[in-house]
Amino acid sequence: MSRITSTRLSDSRELIYFDDPGTPERTPESLVDHRGLPARGEPGEVRYDALSGDWVAVAAHRQSRTHLPPADQCPICPTTAANPSEIPAADYDVVVFENRFPSLGPALGDIPPLPAPGTSGHGMTGPAFGRCEVVAFTPQHTGSFAELGETRARTVIEAWAQRTEALSAMPGIKQVFPFENRGADIGVTLHHPHGQIYAYPYVTPRAAQLGAVARKYYDDVDAKETLAASLLKAEREDGSRMVLEAEHFSAYVPFAARWPLEIHLVPHRSVPDLAALTGAERDELSHVYLDLLKRLDSLYPTPMPYISAWHQAPLDPVLRPAGQLHLQLTSPRRAADKLKYLAGSEAAMGAFINDTTPEAVAERLRSVAAAPASPKTLEGTRA
Ligand SMILES: [Zn+2]
Repeated sequence: MSRITSTRLSDSRELIYFDDPGTPERTPESLVDHRGLPARGEPGEVRYDALSGDWVAVAAHRQSRTHLPPADQCPICPTTAANPSEIPAADYDVVVFENRFPSLGPALGDIPPLPAPGTSGHGMTGPAFGRCEVVAFTPQHTGSFAELGETRARTVIEAWAQRTEALSAMPGIKQVFPFENRGADIGVTLHHPHGQIYAYPYVTPRAAQLGAVARKYYDDVDAKETLAASLLKAEREDGSRMVLEAEHFSAYVPFAARWPLEIHLVPHRSVPDLAALTGAERDELSHVYLDLLKRLDSLYPTPMPYISAWHQAPLDPVLRPAGQLHLQLTSPRRAADKLKYLAGSEAAMGAFINDTTPEAVAERLRSVAAAPASPKTLEGTRA
C-alpha cells in the first residue's frame, strides 16, 4: 500500500502525499509551507445556458494563472531554496493538491436546481462550487506518464481512487473526473508530468448525454447489464478493433471512433469508479495503462499528444447504477505532423468526421506492441 500523508498549504489548500510502498514516513518539514500565501478568493460563477441546458463556469480570475514557466520556477517540482514551489517537500513520489487557480471552488455547496417548468432559466447563476486538484505523477520535471515504472503508476492509481472516494463524499459534488492533458498541442500550461481531477457541482454535458443513453439501455434490459459491459462483450467477440485483452481489463478502438486515435479501456467487472477497483484490478491497470501509453508513443517519431479521460459513473442517483468506469484515451493527431482541429462540423454541430477507420487504427496499435519502446506484452493479448 502506498503511504498517504495529508497537510495544508499556507493558504489552507489541502495537499496529500502518496508515497510508494516501503517509503519512510514523511519528515515534519515536508509538511510545512513557509511561503505565507494570501488567503484564497471566493469561487467564480456558473451560468446557466438556457439554450442548451448546460452550465458554463466563468472563471475570469484564471487569466493570471501560471503559463509554461521555466523549469527552475516550476510550481510542481519539489521545493528548493531558489524555488519555493507548491510542494513543500524536497522529494516526493506522487502528490495531489488543490489548484491555486481553480475554475471550480474552493467553496462547496449546491448550485441552483434546473429551471421550473414554463421558465427558460435565462440569467440563472450560482457560485462555481466544486474542487479542482492537481496530481503530480513524479518529482522529475521532464518525462511522461508512459515512462513511470509500474510501482509509481500503481501509486497514481491509488491516488486517483482515494481522491475519487473523498471528493464524491463532499457536499454538492455530482461528478468526479480524473484526467490528463498531455502535450502543448492539447493546451498544456505546465510541462511537468501531471494530471488533474475536477469535482463538478453538476453532471457535465458529455456525462449527461452518455448517462442518459446508458440508463435507457439498462432499463430496457431490466438492469441485467450496463451498456458498457454489453459493448465490451460485443467488441471482444468481434475482435477486429481489440487492442489488448488482459484478465481484468480490455482495450479497444470503438466502432464509431470520433478521433483519429481513440481507445476505450474497460474493466471486465462493472464498477462505477476507480475507488471500486480491487487491489488485483489496480495492479493490472498499472501495467495495462502503461502498455497503452507506450503504444501511443510508438506510433510516431515524437510523443503523442493525448487526452486521457476517466469516465466515472456520475453521483446522480438515476444515472449512477447504469454508469461504468472506463477510460477514453483520445488524440487529435492524424499524421506525424498533422492535427485534427475541431472545425465547423465538430465544434459547431458536434458531428464528427473521422478520416481513419477504427479497424485500421486497432491493427496499428496491436502491431506496435512488439516494438522496442513497448517491450512488455500482456499474457493473453492478441498482439
Ligand atoms: Zn517541474
